[in-house]
Amino acid sequence: MEYGPSVEDSGAVRDWLDTRGSFGHFIGGKFTKPGSTFGTRAPATGDLLAQVSQGSADDVAAAVKAARKAQKGWAALSGTERARYLYALARHVQKRERFLSVLETLDNGKPIRESRDIDIPLVARHFYHHAGWAELRDTQFPGHAPLGVCGQIIPWNFPLLMLAWKIAPALAAGNTVVLKPAEYTPLTALAFAEICREVGLPAGVVNIVTGDGETGAALVGADVDKIAFTGSTEVGRAIAARLAGTGRRLTLELGGKSPFIVMPDADLDAAVEGVVDSIWFNQGQVCCAGSRILVAEAVAERFETLLRARMDRLRVGPPLDKSTDIGAIVDPVQKDRITSICAAAVAAGAELVGGQAAEGCFIAPGYLRNIAPANPGMEQEIFGPIATLSTFRTADEAIELANNTRYGLAGSVWSESATVATDIAAKIKAGVIWINCANLFDAAAPFGGYRESGFGREGGCAGMLDYLAEPAVKPVREPAPS
Ligand code: NAD
Repeated sequence: MEYGPSVEDSGAVRDWLDTRGSFGHFIGGKFTKPGSTFGTRAPATGDLLAQVSQGSADDVAAAVKAARKAQKGWAALSGTERARYLYALARHVQKRERFLSVLETLDNGKPIRESRDIDIPLVARHFYHHAGWAELRDTQFPGHAPLGVCGQIIPWNFPLLMLAWKIAPALAAGNTVVLKPAEYTPLTALAFAEICREVGLPAGVVNIVTGDGETGAALVGADVDKIAFTGSTEVGRAIAARLAGTGRRLTLELGGKSPFIVMPDADLDAAVEGVVDSIWFNQGQVCCAGSRILVAEAVAERFETLLRARMDRLRVGPPLDKSTDIGAIVDPVQKDRITSICAAAVAAGAELVGGQAAEGCFIAPGYLRNIAPANPGMEQEIFGPIATLSTFRTADEAIELANNTRYGLAGSVWSESATVATDIAAKIKAGVIWINCANLFDAAAPFGGYRESGFGREGGCAGMLDYLAEPAVKPVREPAPS
């Protein structure tokens, strides 16, 4: 098989894929025999990478049973023992960093620079961080108990990183898990299952069942104590409706349409670089992407000139090439979704600068200008490398525009004045606000949204607490007045 320009370790990945060929699920510490399968392809080339099993309700039930069987033993370990496993997972991810980066880039289409420098290092960091919480849980949160078995459903934009965001806190808290990766990008989750075996993680603590939305729906309906979901608002809403009244825990990390506010006193070169990190990172397939650029009218012309020049220098190309800035969109279905929202935006009067679709799964970076607030391109999450560009006159108007969305996941403010920036940041209804930067993540910082972006937090102490049940409060009788 030829995967395009190669980097170190693409040979090792090719061997790994050729040897495996077809994957079963990872249940109770073993891979099952592949049943009914579907192909997962490299979006950049269309090459078939492997066959992966489509999980049935029976597969999900078997995985939940294995997780249930393992849970008491896992929770009974001391925090230090659980931490030891999490440290080992982190170290083994680091040891296989290059392999995992290439595999991620092949399956997802993201530039190798991003998977190598951002995704995979953050995966390791997340396991290291939560190893700390495993040790601290009992002293910091005495009486708190793990929830039990957690069903976890993740999207395809940061496949292994989303897995780490879900599995690390759940295990630190003493839960066991059944995780379903997205159907476009199941491979790094399966490689992670092998890592679980390598580090000797007790059987059943982590179970991976691959498949599409039907498999996800089966997991939501299974005998689990919590569902943690990251994905679209539409599916999140359906899951919430299904779990209502069941008493099961739920956290939802959903979509976004985050504002990127450029004040008149901003360092414009830095702000333009911020746009690159914000909407042109990972082909714009980022839930917290700064997809609505709002720029002060006084500097709008200069900003747009700089933006355009920088955009034209971005290199769209093969994701395994180290000089590529913009790789492939994850799947032709997603590419069509992006182009059809852009076409609707243009039909409604907006002007598209750049953003041309090319053969295969490639779309050049672009932005929509002259766009009205009610334009579909302004309202819908495009989830591609296309921002909107509009202007404002006053800070109050910027805040009003920023909050004019059904989402509330993230935002960023660019200003040389700390007072101006923090004042605006405090008035934006969103879970994360960056000042003079964008899309910076750390395992210690909680991440999550408001409104239709979901609820619950991932990362840091707050993220781990979402995997624990609080102790029952015993009423304390006040001593009678003497
Ligand atoms: P999606 O909702 O279609 O799929 C996400 C996952 O849910 C996949 O694993 C899919 O198989 C599964 N799924 C689909 N239908 C299901 C059902 N009925 N029941 C249970 N599971 C089901 O979303 P997507 O297209 O894969 O991801 C893109 C969306 O995810 C975007 O809207 C993006 O903003 C959001 N996202 C949010 C975050 C966050 O942290 N807030 C992170 C990444 C992506």
